Amino acid sequence: MVQVLGSKELVEDVFDKDLCIGCGACIDLCPYLKNHKGKTTQLFPCDLSTGRCYAYCPKAEVNLDELSKHVWGVPYDGSPLGSHQKILASRAGKEMVKGSFQAGGTVSALVIKALKEGLIEAAVLTDRDVLTPVPRLVTSPKEVIECATSKYMASPTLSAINAAVGRGCKDLGVVGTPCQLTALAQMRANPVEEEGFVDPVGITIGLFCNWSLDTRQLMALLSENLDISTIQSMDIPPPPAEVMVLTTDTGRMEIPLSKIKPLIPQACFICPDMTSELSDVSVGMFEGRSGWNTLIVRSEKGADLIERAKKDRFLETEEMPGESVEHLVKAAADKKERSLRTLKRRELVNTKDDKRSALRIPLKVVQQILR
Ligand SMILES: Cc1cc2nc3c(=O)[nH]c(=O)nc-3n(C[C@H](O)[C@H](O)[C@H](O)COP(=O)(O)OP(=O)(O)OC[C@H]3O[C@@H](n4cnc5c(N)ncnc54)[C@H](O)[C@@H]3O)c2cc1C
Repeated sequence: MVQVLGSKELVEDVFDKDLCIGCGACIDLCPYLKNHKGKTTQLFPCDLSTGRCYAYCPKAEVNLDELSKHVWGVPYDGSPLGSHQKILASRAGKEMVKGSFQAGGTVSALVIKALKEGLIEAAVLTDRDVLTPVPRLVTSPKEVIECATSKYMASPTLSAINAAVGRGCKDLGVVGTPCQLTALAQMRANPVEEEGFVDPVGITIGLFCNWSLDTRQLMALLSENLDISTIQSMDIPPPPAEVMVLTTDTGRMEIPLSKIKPLIPQACFICPDMTSELSDVSVGMFEGRSGWNTLIVRSEKGADLIERAKKDRFLETEEMPGESVEHLVKAAADKKERSLRTLKRRELVNTKDDKRSALRIPLKVVQQILR
């Protein structure tokens, strides 16, 4: 059984250990937990012994086996890419609204198609306020386009779900990173056994993610080099580039990754998921083919949305070359191994004798990953 504790334990297990990723899952549930520029904090102590704040947190007592059984109906097996049907190359099709996308525009195309087909009522996306990522509930294609491109920072996106649910919204589309999708899967499992609970989510689109950056530290670093209000977009091209590329009102600027990587939050180093395994579809870059995405089709719902988008030329797909799939599998397996080594070293996985863990994974899966 998943262990549900309260905000006192959330502070001890997550905030005090610097493991909060600021996903927003605990925000807007109560007046006490707030997020400011990526940092989540508790304003006043709360003495409730159990709470959704702890139950939803992707860094506190996450039981991957329970989650896998809940989402996919099978035990967690630690396979590098998680449960999926197929892997494709994709990009926005000819009939898709034009916009400035991070890569192929697959994410925006799928969200717009889901809205147009009435599969979702609204979508929870991530916009930005100057540079700070901010959650945004959108209902129109124009708003989806406004939220396009990656903000490479931990974002409190999930707070928009809590706020939307509070207003009675249902059938939400959600786009998020692996930590956000893990928290979302926990929210949808109704861990506090709320009476009359209705799953508020219609479709989930997960992003690939190796790591994100601390918002305030990134803003401080970039402010030393430029006026951050002129930044139009940011990109982290695949190796061997080793730079973050900023497109500004006046041109292009490169920041070496050696300056950026120290801004990765500790929480990213214990995340075993590179491809957002708990989503209907997952989308990432297509290394070596700019303007395209890698698309992992996971659930029937995801496959249906992709078919609808293809039929109306909102989306174009192609076979994914075997060597690209192999490369993806290796990158995802490497992230699992790295994070498990860190989790073990920090005594944050499968702890015993009442000692709480960040993650619980079946022992045989741990052995298989660390083989
Ligand atoms: C922090 C981060 C790290 C990433 N790391 C990798 C990686 O290692 N490898 C890889 O292949 N791809 C990575 N990606 C994904 C990649 O940058 C693109 O998002 C993906 O390829 C989709 O491209 P697109 O053209 O379809 O997106 P678009 O159509 O431009 O849509 C982008 C979507 O991303 C959402 N979004 C933007 N920033 C955030 C955020 N901070 N949190 C949650 N949602 C957000 C927006 O709501 C928007 O809907 C990362 C993305 C993020 C946000």
